[in-house]
Amino acid sequence: MTRVKNQLHATILVTGIVQGVGFRPFVYRIAKRHQLRGFVRNRADAVVEIVVEGEKAGIDDFMQALYKEKPPLARLDSVRVDYSEVEVGLGDFAIQASSRARTESGSVIPPDIAICNDCLSELMSPTDRRHRYFFVTCTNCGPRYTTILGVPYDRSNTTMRQFPMCSQCRTDYTSPLDRRFHAQTIACQDCGPDIALLDGAGVMVDVKDPITEAGRLLSSGKVLALKGNGGFHLAASALRDEPIKRLRQSKDRRKKPFALMARGLEATLTFADVSSCERELLDSYIRPIVLLHKKEPFGLSGLVSPDLDSVGVMLPYTGMHYLLFDAITDAALIMTSANAPNEPIITETQHAVQKLKGVADYFLVHDREIAQRADDSVIRCLGDTPTPIRRSRGYAPAPIVLSKTFRTKTLALGAELNVAACMILGNKAYLTQHIGDTETVETAKFLQDAVSHLQRLIGFEPDSVACDLHPKFTTTKIAERISKELEIPLERVQHHEAHAGSLMAEHEVEELVGIVCDGFGLGYENEAWGGEVFVCHGSDIRRSAHLEEQPMVGVDLATRYPVRMVAGILRDVPTILDWLKHNSSKLPGGEVEIPIIVRQLERKDFVWTSSCGRILDSVAALLGICYERTYEGEPAMKLEAHSRGGVDQLNLQAEIEGSVIRTSNMVRAVYDRKTELSVRDLAFSAQAYMARALSAAAIREAKAEGISTVGFSGGVGLNEVISQMIRKHVSDAGLQYVSNSAVPPGDGGISLGQAYLASLRQPS
Ligand SMILES: [Zn+2]
Ligand SMILES: [Zn+2]
Repeated sequence: MTRVKNQLHATILVTGIVQGVGFRPFVYRIAKRHQLRGFVRNRADAVVEIVVEGEKAGIDDFMQALYKEKPPLARLDSVRVDYSEVEVGLGDFAIQASSRARTESGSVIPPDIAICNDCLSELMSPTDRRHRYFFVTCTNCGPRYTTILGVPYDRSNTTMRQFPMCSQCRTDYTSPLDRRFHAQTIACQDCGPDIALLDGAGVMVDVKDPITEAGRLLSSGKVLALKGNGGFHLAASALRDEPIKRLRQSKDRRKKPFALMARGLEATLTFADVSSCERELLDSYIRPIVLLHKKEPFGLSGLVSPDLDSVGVMLPYTGMHYLLFDAITDAALIMTSANAPNEPIITETQHAVQKLKGVADYFLVHDREIAQRADDSVIRCLGDTPTPIRRSRGYAPAPIVLSKTFRTKTLALGAELNVAACMILGNKAYLTQHIGDTETVETAKFLQDAVSHLQRLIGFEPDSVACDLHPKFTTTKIAERISKELEIPLERVQHHEAHAGSLMAEHEVEELVGIVCDGFGLGYENEAWGGEVFVCHGSDIRRSAHLEEQPMVGVDLATRYPVRMVAGILRDVPTILDWLKHNSSKLPGGEVEIPIIVRQLERKDFVWTSSCGRILDSVAALLGICYERTYEGEPAMKLEAHSRGGVDQLNLQAEIEGSVIRTSNMVRAVYDRKTELSVRDLAFSAQAYMARALSAAAIREAKAEGISTVGFSGGVGLNEVISQMIRKHVSDAGLQYVSNSAVPPGDGGISLGQAYLASLRQPS
């Protein structure tokens, strides 16, 4: 054995997001620059292992460069270095074949990344080899999570494995200075996935350029199903009413807004306002759907987002999207996830042809398999705070870093709607992509598949499992089964406490007064909660105040038809019967439903609820804004839309009696003055009252308990009017305000709170 003088040998293990982001090529280049010998390789635990040998000064400079110059998409969570003397002497620096080593956990491959500017200019450049190739990508961009079958992130572990590289692509792939050096999604016209146009019956249409033809068909009013990276979209013209009407009928989606894909920022500005917070999100490599304020006049079909002042917009994120817009002059297209009602987004062509029969006139499909589904993410800027509505493509599976490190590994399954599961491992929380409403067999299966996939990727075996208090949720049943099978503890976490927990996890606070408002969650005594104020000392949580309980006449019917909520809240108002009769056409049963409601009230045949959503719904019905909830949050969203620019004319004082925040008098005031004041001002005043009263109750508790942070979560947290007013009241009281920005305030973020509180409750 010959010792080499003045030289060192270093073994470096890098965890974080280091595979699939051009990290090995980067390491190769800096190692060469500092004249080091050795190698770099991916490992099966998603860690990158580097071994270098050379002068000490060279290794020091290399280590500095590793941090300072890391590729934009890489994330270094920990870098462990072991130095020793040089004994054997390694050869020239090289990228080695991946190792099967799996000793670390928590490293993960990146989310999908939108096409980069270099690839985009190649796509559009007639002299480039990849000119007009719809799946052009490089080490800096392209799908990742949706193509990965397992780790390490090697081509053989992705859905690209069925496409052997052509000789030119292989040259790019093996050239250290090429942008596609070891880019696993590398492809071109000659060797990569192919694209084809199918008619409504799934029969191939003979066209030279399927994408250009697809664009022409869309512009002419046809509905197309497009296979993307993470699933199928349904696309249609955003200018014409007719295809949108057809989409609404076939998707059983009468009024729910459709998202748009706009040609670019400039095109977006023709129909929507864009703030700097929104612009940054639109343009980011995540390319989420961003909720924007519509311009007046809107310019696109009124059927895109009827009765709302907002519209969801994303920018193109694959070569295929850019080529589609290249073929047309439209500013934007409808682009919505293609799925059967309450089923996950469709990923297979045969399945699409079968399920979308009569909906899609044509199919634009490629022949690469989709490994993991991923719906588009949806974000809304509340003030300058980007707030996720749906956290999926572009975010999953990147973890959220916590301030605490937990020894217990907890899996949390969420509630019933908008489910995303969460795993806490050490000081990180990993959320799955958006799963959806877990009422069907298909979504329940998707949830379990996504959970096991993520477990495999990060090397996670739970030793505790968390779910909602609700015994009938699908997620509860799955959690119970896991707990039994693995013989691990099951933690049932109250719905709204979990929302508050998500704030504590995100903001690294141990003490918090949490305002949590949404539609429904089960309380400890089987009550219907939804407008709660909690005092939280870690996992020790006390419900200190709540909205006045109101009767839900007909329970689920009262959620669907808010006229029934009004009947309950204003049951003692002498003229309410006249109002009900006058509005009986807004109930499915018409006039005959009125005596039924009256009887139900007399016999106290209803359940009480402290839900904030139901109060907002009833104001929406009173003001004639919305009489039927055809999608989650519809009446409340329309109330907010109609209040824009309004003034608080009621100016009601916060009415709090003990632990009860009164709401009846506010609803009564809206009723009494609806002929005198404008709908806009009354809609605004009602929300202003809710914000004022909830803030007052929370501030009172914070001062009494000496807690300096007040947070706001739950689905109502997405209401800009209410959330911004609560923010102001809390700040004016000299307290710190927090809201969700890493996970949705709605049920899409509840699993983080469940996992966090369950972890706190485990003995450490
Ligand atoms: Zn690229
Ligand atoms: Zn090729």
